[in-house]
Amino acid sequence: MSQHIQNLLGHAAPFINYLYILASVLFIIGLKMLSRADTARKGNLISAVGMLIAIVATCLLVGMEYKWILVGIAIGSAIGAIAAQSVKMTSMPEMVGLLNGFGGLASMLVAWAEYHKWHAMGWAEYAKTLLPDNPAAASEVFAAVAIAFTAVVGALTFSGSLIAFLKLAEWMPGKPILFRGQQFVNALVVLAILAAGAIFCMAPTGPNAYIAIAVLMVAGLILGITSVIPIGGADMPVVISLLNSYSGIAAAAAGFIILNNVLIVAGSLVGASGIILTQIMCKAMNRSLANVLFSGFGATKSSAKGEGYKGEAKPISAEDTYLLLEAARSVVIVPGYGMAVAQAQHSVRELGELLAANGCDVRYAIHPVAGRMPGHMNVLLAEANVPYEQLVEPQDVNPIMETVDVAMVIGANDVVNPAAREDKSSPIYGMPIINVDQAKTVIILKRSMASGFAGIDNPLFFKDNSRMLFGDAKATVSALVSEFKSA
Ligand code: NDP
Repeated sequence: MSQHIQNLLGHAAPFINYLYILASVLFIIGLKMLSRADTARKGNLISAVGMLIAIVATCLLVGMEYKWILVGIAIGSAIGAIAAQSVKMTSMPEMVGLLNGFGGLASMLVAWAEYHKWHAMGWAEYAKTLLPDNPAAASEVFAAVAIAFTAVVGALTFSGSLIAFLKLAEWMPGKPILFRGQQFVNALVVLAILAAGAIFCMAPTGPNAYIAIAVLMVAGLILGITSVIPIGGADMPVVISLLNSYSGIAAAAAGFIILNNVLIVAGSLVGASGIILTQIMCKAMNRSLANVLFSGFGATKSSAKGEGYKGEAKPISAEDTYLLLEAARSVVIVPGYGMAVAQAQHSVRELGELLAANGCDVRYAIHPVAGRMPGHMNVLLAEANVPYEQLVEPQDVNPIMETVDVAMVIGANDVVNPAAREDKSSPIYGMPIINVDQAKTVIILKRSMASGFAGIDNPLFFKDNSRMLFGDAKATVSALVSEFKSA
């Protein structure tokens, strides 16, 4: 880089931290706005502006290798733009899973690259790249611990997210995969991490350091796989939010390696919000985190699948459903993953408006784990402009469910499965559900009698007050809309 540009960047240096503070403030404001559906879009934009400021400020740092940064930005932007255009809305959850994984991979590579730099330059020179103004203040032990930690957490996040991606994309069975001696293997991997971590941190430039850091990364990759494959069924939301949190922790740790303030702040925000989301998901399923991580959900005996639920499911036509809805004074709509698959949200909103115009009280009950990613249903309904005030949470709607004339279950299954309340042998026993079976009539819109993501049969389909409106949700909801319009 020419001396002239170096000099100019030297003048910009004092402002970089101010730009980082501005970026951090924008991240926090954006995050706060993401917690409400009506402000989420603006929040996303504000956070993106914060990220742009952070990137520009980082590029102002002296000693940047712009050629490679531009190559990275070009390749990354091209892949991101194509993916954003071509990935279907229904594939968003697995895309989010994959992006978490890439965050982990990036942090792992930062750990590796920084260690390589340190090794090649020697500590004295490397310390100058960390703290140009006061290299003597940089600590070898601190750098070694940060590199070891980032390598493990980054690797674990990467491989764990890839498994979550494969499960969500249904390229891998969703059910738990358990093998003999699994806990023993996990214990060995953890021991390998502790031993390699100790060897590396005690002598980061010693003869075994390269092997130790490689062991840390490989062991992290194995631990990511072995800790996510035994988790399946309804427990995946917890894993997705936990991996999201890990990707933030890995990024913050990478920030400690290169002593970059904005990376530490952004990583900590992702890590903390991911942990909060994990807590929310655990609460939504009435499970402790330890129980989710170590119980091997669904690996119980066959009765757990609910094969004992017998009875006759009663189909209903769109015409008869219309008559029920037309007479109803209160309707609760419960959307689930099938609504996303059918892309029925716009027709659902139209039906909701027609019902309201008919004098009916309409509410949308959203279960926190409905769909395939946290907030999935909120995003779809917001996209279709469903009024935010009409959305209710299970704990608000369940107490009044007995007074509801019609509960319409649109492509939801696990989140309305009464086995969670009634069947102690069910793997989802204890998970709070939306008690649609307590409404006067329940209409279930789905294509067949198939089970949902958790692979558990649903006794709701055989209840006296249940009616099955078979078909693709968009087609059946559109048929109901047509019935209302032609009446
Ligand atoms: P489910 O997966 O339980 O059920 C979805 C139902 O939609 C299926 O039974 C399916 O039945 C039906 N369906 C699919 N396509 C269509 C269509 N085109 N038209 C009409 N119906 C359709 O969904 P829920 O939302 O109730 O529950 C979410 C599940 O996913 C939970 O087990 C949750 O733990 C899990 N999960 C959630 C995550 C999250 O973060 N929210 C992440 C990962 C997993 P049929 O085939 O007969 O049509």
